[in-house]
This record gives sequence, C-alpha cells and structure tokens, in this order.
Amino acid sequence: MATLRWGAATHEGQLRTQNEDNHHVGDGLFVVADGMGGHLAGEVASEMAVTRLDDRLPAGRLGSRDDLVAAINEANVEIYNASQQNPEQTGMGTTITAIAVVDDPLDGEVLAVANVGDSRGYVLRHGRLRQVTVDHSFVQELVAEGAITAAEARHHPRRNIVTRALGIEPYVRVDTWTMPIIRGDRFLLCSDGLVDEVADDVIQGILATHRDDPTVAAQALVDAANASGGRDNITAVVVDVLEGDDPPDPTEEFDVIPVWSDVDATTAGGPAEIVSDP
Ligand code: MG
Repeated sequence: MATLRWGAATHEGQLRTQNEDNHHVGDGLFVVADGMGGHLAGEVASEMAVTRLDDRLPAGRLGSRDDLVAAINEANVEIYNASQQNPEQTGMGTTITAIAVVDDPLDGEVLAVANVGDSRGYVLRHGRLRQVTVDHSFVQELVAEGAITAAEARHHPRRNIVTRALGIEPYVRVDTWTMPIIRGDRFLLCSDGLVDEVADDVIQGILATHRDDPTVAAQALVDAANASGGRDNITAVVVDVLEGDDPPDPTEEFDVIPVWSDVDATTAGGPAEIVSDP
C-alpha cells in the first residue's frame, strides 16, 4: 500500500461548547465529517458517518472507489433512519469528505476522494494549493452561476446553507474523484470552520511551512482559525504522500475529474436547503 504520513487536529473553536466535527485517520483512510442538528445530534451524525467508513474500509484491505461510495451511502441511510426514529435527532445530518487508497481496475492503486456537503479536500503540490472537492452549498451555486466571486462567498450571510448532506434524505449523491498517488503531494481535509476563518493563501503558507510534520501543520491550521475568531468547530487532517509516482512538471495542470456513479445520479433528489449552523 502507498506510503503515507498523517496528522490531525480538531477544536470546538471560540464560541461553541461542543465539537460536532469528527474525523478519522488511519492507514489508507482519512475522513472529516461536520455534523449538524441541535442537542448533540450533529455529533451523533458525524460520528456515525466516520464509524461506518472505518468499519467498511478497514486498514490493510484495499477496497475500490465503489466501496467508498457504498460506505457513504450506508452511512446516509443509517443517519436518516436514526433521525426518523429518534425525535431528539430529527433533522440531524453531516457533511463528509474522505480520501481512501483504493484499487482501480485500470490504474492500480490510486487515491479516491469523496465529498458530500461543504467540508473540503485540498492538495498542495509544488507549493501550490488546489481545492479538489466542490462544495455543495448555496454560495457555491452562486459562484458557479457567476453571481458572486469566491472571495464574496467567504463572507456571504447565507454561506452556512449546504445543499447536500448525509442523513437528510434516504438517498444521497456522492461526488468522487480519483487521483494518482504522487510523491510529495500533501492533502488537507477540513471542516468549514477552517476555511471560513483562514484564506486559502494563508492555508497554503501554513501547509508549506510545516512540511516535515503533518500533525504540527494540522495544529497550526486550527490555531490560525481560532486566532481569526474560531466561530465554528475546526478540524484539519493533513496527509503526506511519502512514496508514489514522480511528480509531474510544475506547469502541468491537475487532472482532477469528478465521477458520479449511475446509481447515485438516478436516485438523487432535488437540492434541499440545510442550514448547517443555524
Ligand atoms: Mg462547521
């Protein structure tokens, strides 16, 4: 299996007493989940999601991209059913962003990235930060339409509205990407509590500074978010690729193409408005 090194940090932030984020780091699987829902339900939802992925994609067994999607779909059903059955968990949900080392029938060992909601996956290559995932949020739709800029989205009053999350409907569409395992790549998975407080160029600088220790880098990111206000829970998972394919020429564009499975697409419902931080 690919040789990776990782570190993580999480904090409830400066205003909240509970941390509804959950994360997992382990050989070949990395997850960030940002729960939503009152009275601790958000924490239940994000923990259910992380636990389900860890159960379905155990360390040491190389699964497929489809296994990752199936695990996220199972987590969705599990959270949805719990929210239907337990009045105190009504409406709970969670984002999920995950990276797994998987076996691809054509390319062999690759990294699969999966996303639902507005947590994010980034990659730092040649000192340059690129967002891999696409947010499922109201403001991202406005950015895609050209109505507002990405910079305006960061401070938009409705930036907390996510348009897709686990646990809200019986079916969910999961975005996935596969990426080659490139030596020197540094991945970041994070909740919106980081990106709402810390601009991408600052995140890039922190990741480039603490190059030899992903735990120190993750903690530095969380510290930066707290120093900027810490208005939400903050989670950062940093994963370094120590051995892999040779990095491409720095001028080469990233080859990051999203994939949607037919099953997910045909069962996807219309966009729902879900307020993650009421
Ligand atoms: Mg959050």
